[in-house]
Amino acid sequence: MHQLTNYINGEKVPPAGGAYLDNINPATGAVFSKVPDSDAADVEAAVAAADRAFPIWSKTPADERSRILLRMADLIESRLDEFARAETDDNGKCLSLARTVDIPRAVKNLRFFATAILHTQSESHVTDGQALNYTLRKPRGVCGLISPWNLPLYLFTWKIAPAIATGNTAVAKPSEVTPVTAAMLADVAIEAGLPAGVLNIVHGLGAKAGAAIVSHPKITTISFTGGTVTGRAIAAVAAPMFKKISLELGGKNPTIVFADADMKKALPTSVRAAFANQGQICLCGSRLFVERSICDDFTAKFVAAAKQIRVGDPLEESSAMGALVSKAQLDKVSQYVALAKEEGGEILCGGEPPAPVNDRCKNGYFVQPTVIAGLSHSCRVNQEEIFGPVVSIIPFDDEKQVIDMANSTPYGLSASIWTENLNRAHRVAEGVQSGTIWINTWLLRDLRVPFGGMKQSGVGREGGDEAIRFFTEPKNVCIATPND
Ligand code: NAD
Repeated sequence: MHQLTNYINGEKVPPAGGAYLDNINPATGAVFSKVPDSDAADVEAAVAAADRAFPIWSKTPADERSRILLRMADLIESRLDEFARAETDDNGKCLSLARTVDIPRAVKNLRFFATAILHTQSESHVTDGQALNYTLRKPRGVCGLISPWNLPLYLFTWKIAPAIATGNTAVAKPSEVTPVTAAMLADVAIEAGLPAGVLNIVHGLGAKAGAAIVSHPKITTISFTGGTVTGRAIAAVAAPMFKKISLELGGKNPTIVFADADMKKALPTSVRAAFANQGQICLCGSRLFVERSICDDFTAKFVAAAKQIRVGDPLEESSAMGALVSKAQLDKVSQYVALAKEEGGEILCGGEPPAPVNDRCKNGYFVQPTVIAGLSHSCRVNQEEIFGPVVSIIPFDDEKQVIDMANSTPYGLSASIWTENLNRAHRVAEGVQSGTIWINTWLLRDLRVPFGGMKQSGVGREGGDEAIRFFTEPKNVCIATPND
């Protein structure tokens, strides 16, 4: 059985305590690798290595840092099939998705920040002929980077790339549920010539390895993506230590379809928004608000489209949905389907595992795309994040009502609005409380724009300049200008 290693001080090393966790392939239910169950001793070694590497890396010219990150991107790209297969075995997602979305986006993240640091501008301000102010942006030191399981290498590199491109060093922990591509990234870093200690990867449980990262006094900066409950626990530790924190958390995102929407686009895209990656994207539209005059017709077509989605072996090209990431996630989805029935909802399709997709996958964690109707916007199923292929359809009568219902959850990550009326699109975008609003599209991402959530979906923004600002400390220098 393949045993993964930590990556500390430029070397692949076993966990100090010698303990490992089982890593399960969700499509088969079988253990396929062992992941280090690291503890505070491993984190201590990683922080020490990162701390030693910082003085030199932070002064390494941007050109050189850029060159190494670009080399890492090239190496991942040259092994795209290998990375995609690992992501599929680790996560249960379809190989086609890993190959076209997850791994290419990881490559893009590295390239984006490797080149962004060559073009960043610094500010200067003249104070009424009395002084010239300029702002120095300095890397902050050792950063703690913690990521979730749903888009493993994609989100891991989304943090690592800006952190180390800007001259910081890092101790990074991938999810214990999907560690394999993070372990492969260590090989890439070594081969690309990344100096020892600049990036350290510590595997293990959140409550053990993750908590040791968050509470370590030498870690000045924490970038976390994951659940809202975990984010709250991290903030409770990091805030009194005056760490700089960025929290990208859960969502309960509305898709809003007005009667005048272009149905040829609105229908297939809202189906994709509900079920892509088995509904396990923080940006998935899990509450589908449809204007009442078209709701019956739209619902019938939506359900028909959901039934057409082929749930199958994620390795097969013909599969459009793979397995949920874990047994725990499958149980959670089943509990919410049961709750939907208790709350008076009608399951229009799905809610059950499909017939066994093939012999290899007979013990995998599969569920059919699930569509629910008849629930109030305020019930638990429509307020809490499920994070699976479950969507609830809710009719609405007017703009004000739908904005109020969309804003009724504690979350505010993203929303999609479908209408051909431009004025209405702007009004609703203004009214809906979300960090990202898509109009007549979904999941179209420009890496330069600020990304993050409002309310309990997070604190801070990632992406483009926001990430560069987050990982650097602004220092103002004010020089008095000579008086005549
Ligand atoms: P999670 O919060 O359980 O775990 C995320 C990471 O935090 C893992 O690496 C885990 O080991 C670690 N962790 C857990 N407890 C910790 C602790 N006490 N201290 C430090 N680290 C700890 O989340 P998950 O189940 O892996 O991911 C699903 C969640 O992530 C969903 O809520 C989803 O909406 C959210 N998510 C948000 C975004 C976004 O950009 N806003 C993107 C993807 C996923």
